[in-house]
Amino acid sequence: MKNLVLFGPPGAGKGTQATFLKDTYNLIHISTGDVFRYNIKNKTDLGILAKSFMDKGELVPDHVTIDMLNAEVAKNLDSNGFIFDGFPRNTLQADALDELLKSHETEVSAMIALEVDDEVLVQRLLKRGETSGRPDDANESVVRNRIKIYYKQTAILKNYYFDASKYYGVNGVGSVEDITERLKAVINNL
Ligand code: ADP
Repeated sequence: MKNLVLFGPPGAGKGTQATFLKDTYNLIHISTGDVFRYNIKNKTDLGILAKSFMDKGELVPDHVTIDMLNAEVAKNLDSNGFIFDGFPRNTLQADALDELLKSHETEVSAMIALEVDDEVLVQRLLKRGETSGRPDDANESVVRNRIKIYYKQTAILKNYYFDASKYYGVNGVGSVEDITERLKAVINNL
């Protein structure tokens, strides 16, 4: 299996790029944010809980997120592998992902990070908020809170995968097509 962690701050373009990569490499794309939004739309218990955190730009509690991720992986064990988008977001989640993949006799192949400056991120997210209908994109203080939490809890994961020789950084500024090519160049070399 090829298991890729697509990494980067909110607004880095993970979802956009995952859409192209999953077709190219025939992988299952799991976006934790998308799964939560699907549950919010369908007013499930998980959705109602997740919404109370997401609307403030905070992380959904780990045990809830990890259980949900485990269930998504379990549905697709016959696949070629996964693109994890929005997970892991802290070291506890990274440990949980290692454990989960190990239990299925596989592992993370690489973390590929999209690198984008903060002010570009804020502008991209606020612009997306004009049309996405996502409440967490529409408000500048919520957007900044998400970026703050990224630096406080998530960015450290770079070291986690770097130490395992699995970290690859890619410039996330440019045309969507150019960035896809940069990502493919990394993946084809794994
Ligand atoms: P973005 O990366 O642009 O912030 P996402 O769609 O990945 O957007 O995530 C939106 C929100 O969903 C996050 O701000 C957070 O509240 C919640 N979320 C997504 N993934 C996780 C996760 N792994 N752990 C906790 N909360 C998460």
